[in-house]
Amino acid sequence: MIAPSVAVKIANVQKKLGDLFVHDAIVERGELVVGQELELIVDHSRRAAVRANHSATHLLHEALRQVLGDHVAQKGSLVAPDRLRFDFAHPKPISPEELTRVEEIANAAVLQNAPVSTRLMSQEAAIESGARALFGEKYGDEVRVVSMGHALEPEAAPSAAFSTELCGGTHVSRTGDIGLISIVSEGAVAAGVRRIEAKTATEARHHLNEQAHRLHDLASLLKAPEDELNQRLASLLDERRKLERELTDARRKLAMGGGEGAAPVAQEIDGIKYLGRSVSGIDMKDLKPLADEAKQSVGSGVVAIVGVAADGKAGVVVGVTPDLTARFDAVALVQAAAAALGGKGGGGRRDLAQAGGPNGTAAEAALEAVGQALREKAGVD
Ligand SMILES: [Zn+2]
Repeated sequence: MIAPSVAVKIANVQKKLGDLFVHDAIVERGELVVGQELELIVDHSRRAAVRANHSATHLLHEALRQVLGDHVAQKGSLVAPDRLRFDFAHPKPISPEELTRVEEIANAAVLQNAPVSTRLMSQEAAIESGARALFGEKYGDEVRVVSMGHALEPEAAPSAAFSTELCGGTHVSRTGDIGLISIVSEGAVAAGVRRIEAKTATEARHHLNEQAHRLHDLASLLKAPEDELNQRLASLLDERRKLERELTDARRKLAMGGGEGAAPVAQEIDGIKYLGRSVSGIDMKDLKPLADEAKQSVGSGVVAIVGVAADGKAGVVVGVTPDLTARFDAVALVQAAAAALGGKGGGGRRDLAQAGGPNGTAAEAALEAVGQALREKAGVD
């Protein structure tokens, strides 16, 4: 067989000017000339997948309407070989229970394996028959009505279809050809518009298999049976929270001069007790509680805690015990520390003030700066 000299791949098909279909094509080999004859070869597996996804969109639309209400109108749709996307009007998130019911109902229609029928009729007759207008199509006088499955509601007429819509698209011949519908996501796209994404047939099966494998891997990682993963994970998270608390406490104790009962030693500057500590690896929000603890331990005096964070920046808290706030202002003292750390300012009250700076390596210098400021002030008084 001689390979054809020209190969063209169709990239996109659009419907223009009513019934005119325009194919956008890429010439992959050779040169296309006017009058040339080409053989059209359809990629059947791709087309079958698109068909299943498109038909599943009809079933999901009806299932959504049954579960959420008649206000569920289509706002957009995308049909790809590997998935389908359906946007529709609905004012609030869909609960997991509602989503499960939608999936159940749509799959019930799949399992009926009922024929999909298309009929051409006048637009009026179609609307009268209860067909829903769909897919943003411009309809001519004569429309195509697609009916799928048998109505599930007990009160429905025996001949009533599960879904009846106006649609010109390609469909499966029986609902069973869809194989399986699996909703993979649900979310908001705009105010009052929700989006669901779903997979069908082989893609749906692959998706579910992947999830099963992931669950299996997690179970072996966590060394727990699959149905006990929730409890196992919850208890691990609990344990982690407990350990974090213990670690924070241990670091705090270490920062304050050792283990249990080891009281930190304060120096005396002109008769004022001064306790300065530099700590690393603790949360900046723990600096104030640390300063409060230090104030309690000195009873009467001034305390300064410099905390150096993992990124090298420093925070500093200065505390003054109540009997000394008339003489010493924690805000003025913390500003001296901040300057040493390469920072500016600092704020708080006369008994407790906080500041910070970029240069954590100057922690000791910052403690010394507070001592120096204290010395100058005590000397003046
Ligand atoms: Zn359709």
